[in-house]
Order: sequence, then structure tokens, then C-alpha cells
Amino acid sequence: MGALFDSHCHLDFDDFASDRTAVMARAEAAGVAAIMIPGVSRRASSKTRISSASIELFYGVGLHPYFIAEHDYADIDWLEQQLQRCPHAVVGEVGLDRSCSDYRKQQQLFTAQVELACAYQRPLIIHHRQSQADLVAILMRYRSKLPAHAGVIHAFSGSYEQAQSWLALGFMIGVGGVISYQRAAKTRSTIARLPLESLVLETDAPAMPLAGYQGQRNEPAQLLLVVDALAQLSGWSTAQIAAQTSSNAYRLFANR
Ligand SMILES: [Zn+2]
Repeated sequence: MGALFDSHCHLDFDDFASDRTAVMARAEAAGVAAIMIPGVSRRASSKTRISSASIELFYGVGLHPYFIAEHDYADIDWLEQQLQRCPHAVVGEVGLDRSCSDYRKQQQLFTAQVELACAYQRPLIIHHRQSQADLVAILMRYRSKLPAHAGVIHAFSGSYEQAQSWLALGFMIGVGGVISYQRAAKTRSTIARLPLESLVLETDAPAMPLAGYQGQRNEPAQLLLVVDALAQLSGWSTAQIAAQTSSNAYRLFANR
């Protein structure tokens, strides 16, 4: 099986502070060659960056709805400065989450970040929870200005019709541990029907443990289990899945 790309992993979180080197060694042994580390807040992105000689690391900068109380409208100016300073940084993790407070402020900050993604032609990493219709409605207004590879709807769960609305906007579908749960029947059948060219794989570590690992910290080496789950669902081989989803992620995040 070829090299894997974990398109969503919070490797910078303190959950990995004590054993990050070992976590990355296990990821490398599992075939993970590249990891996208999304940003969640100004404070979190201002910490020292991780480096690795063996795994290629990519970064996002964004204001995540989980930290809505912490974000200030002036953080949008800070975010723009980061995009100017880092020509490879993407915009994310951003989005809307009905389980978080201040939905109006979430919408304002999300819209401002979409505008930056359009202005700087950077892909978006989008978080959703009970918010896909609202997200799509906002993005539709920017449809002609989004980059050709608009981004990824991270940890997608939903119907085939919902997936199609993301593909129509130029987004890829982020496939993670949710497909390892039998109860996620709708999402599993949706993913199985989508073209492999539209999928990227992710762990969302330390969150989103796979079936059988509930209550444990997730880590990027577990991406292998996402590959296995997708192979079982779809009928594609693990080699096909590794090659195509990695190629998709490099095209999306690295323009190559
Ligand atoms: Zn995330």
C-alpha cells in the first residue's frame, strides 16, 4: 500500500505533548507520509510549530466554532496577516456548529474567513454540526470566487444529496472514523457511492476514535483503519484508496 495523507489531525494539541515523537513514529510506520494540521484559534496557532524530518506537515489557520467565546473580530486581521506571511497556509478549521454558543457570531466569523479564502485563493477546511444547509447557503454566495479546489468538508456525515452539494461547490469529502461505526448507515452508504477522486482521508486525532477504540485518544497511525473501513465499504483495494486519496490531498493542499 502506498503512502497515506492524514488530511485532518490536531497534532499540535496538548493531548500529544508528552509523547508526540512516538505518535509520529507510529504514524510513519503505518505509512502516513503527510499530515494537515488545522489551526483552531489565534492563541493555539501562536504556539511553537511542530517539525518533522520524516512526515511532511501542512498547516491551516482558522477560527474554530468550538472556541467562539475566545475569538475577537480583530482576529480576522491577524488571520489575514498569517495568509500573507505563509503562502502555503490554508483557511481552517472554520465552520458552524449548532452545539456551540453565539451562532450569529459564528456566522459572521465564518463569512469573513470565506472572504479571505477567496481573496487569497486558499482552500477551506470546514467543520459542520447540524449546519450543512447554512454553510452551503453562505458558500453559494461566493461560488464564483472560491478557489478551483475549494477545500474539504471535514468529518463528513450525511446524505448523498448533501455530499453532492459539496462536490458542486468544488469541495472534497473528508472521510474519517465515522465510517467504522455500523450505526452510521446513511454516511456509510453515501461514501460508498462517491467517486474516489472526491475523497480525502482523516483521523481528526486526538478526537474521533474508531469503532473498538471508544474513549481512547485517537492518533494518526489509526488512518490505516480508516483505509480498511473504506475498502470494506466500497470494494476499492487499500492500494487504490491510498494512492488516490493521497493524490487528492496533495492536489488540494499543495497544488501538486
Ligand atoms: Zn478538527
